Amino acid sequence: MDILQDSDPQVAGIVASELQRQREHLELIASENFASPAVMAAQGSVLTNKYAEGLPGKRYYGGCEFVDQVESLAIARIKELFGAAHANVQPHSGAQANFAVFLALLKPGDTIMGMDLSHGGHLTHGSPVNVSGKWFNVVQYGVNPETETLDFDQIRQLALEHKPKMIICGYSAYPRTIPFEKFRAIADEVGAYLLADIAHIAGLVAAGVHPNPVPHCDVVTTTTHKTLRGPRGGLILTRDPELGKKFDKAVFPGTQGGPLEHVIAAKAVAFGEALQPEFKTYSQQVIANAQAMGDRLQARGLKLVSGGTDNHLILVDLRSVGLTGKQADKLVSEVNITANKNTVPFDPESPFVTSGLRLGSPAMTTRGMGTEEFEEIADIIADRLSNPDDEVVRENCRRRVAALCDRFPLYPYLGQAQPA
Ligand code: PLP
Repeated sequence: MDILQDSDPQVAGIVASELQRQREHLELIASENFASPAVMAAQGSVLTNKYAEGLPGKRYYGGCEFVDQVESLAIARIKELFGAAHANVQPHSGAQANFAVFLALLKPGDTIMGMDLSHGGHLTHGSPVNVSGKWFNVVQYGVNPETETLDFDQIRQLALEHKPKMIICGYSAYPRTIPFEKFRAIADEVGAYLLADIAHIAGLVAAGVHPNPVPHCDVVTTTTHKTLRGPRGGLILTRDPELGKKFDKAVFPGTQGGPLEHVIAAKAVAFGEALQPEFKTYSQQVIANAQAMGDRLQARGLKLVSGGTDNHLILVDLRSVGLTGKQADKLVSEVNITANKNTVPFDPESPFVTSGLRLGSPAMTTRGMGTEEFEEIADIIADRLSNPDDEVVRENCRRRVAALCDRFPLYPYLGQAQPA
């Protein structure tokens, strides 16, 4: 921080402001987390200077002996975590990992089946604004209107009718356990590849608190920065070494250039952390905290999509309190709670307005909070949403957020921030 301060005070000031923002807000964005100091140290290391096109032992550049070691270590650790036969840790992000898988297994015009964005799917699973929606014939499935959980009768029916080349499971806003074996049975019936994109739940899977898709799927992609708590990035796993070779080629030279070896080093550190017993305790707490927050919100009269959660996130259906996602997002942000508006299944509002608020527990669990604190967070949110125009309630909520943030310091070793 001091080196940056001395050489570029302008950027240093902005970084310090962001540190202060992270410290003073309750971070409830379900896809965010706080990487460890060791992960950040590896990412900020001299490995950023190295070009290393290719794979460990097979590079197009000299001087790769040490980045080879770190990339091999990352690969070995992630294979151990997930029981995979093959891993590619080079994708720069989750979207890049998915793109490489598409390049490896599909041709433009092929049919793919993914979950509708408004039901919890991701843009890269066939949205018309993404390459997946532009190059492929997309069939979208959704959740059951009654249960708001995966509707396997509908999924099977659609698969039999459209014979997709690939079925995608794994989501951005789905609070329930994904039964991968049910998808496998349908994929086998129609001869489709099965891709699980576990970007959100990877940490829960690594810790053994959510079923592992690797034994059931042809390929698994993920981000590394959400529940897995690593640096921003992506990766690809498979149980099939022959498919693995195709994915390697699709990452480089198919869709990327030189790998980010400093990020890969940070991935190796995060995977090492995830292999420790503490990570299982952390992941169990992530789920317990999301459930505690959800239970309290329901007790306060807010409806949750599917009636609860099995994982790290909840989706509040705000129609129960007459608010839109846009309004709720603004109301909580005014009391220093960071969350995001989100569509709910069969949402009557546009994606810019929405009827939902997505809340996640991974980041504040990393700060050390438990179920008691998450019940307090739920109470703050419920107080704020049920009294949108009350200044006294607003100030009270802000004070309670500040008190929680003070009790659970973030990155204390970084000292006092000097914002711009
Ligand atoms: N897949 C899913 C299910 C996601 O939720 C996300 C990100 O939110 C991604 C892929 C994309 O990851 P990235 O932002 O790293 O490209």
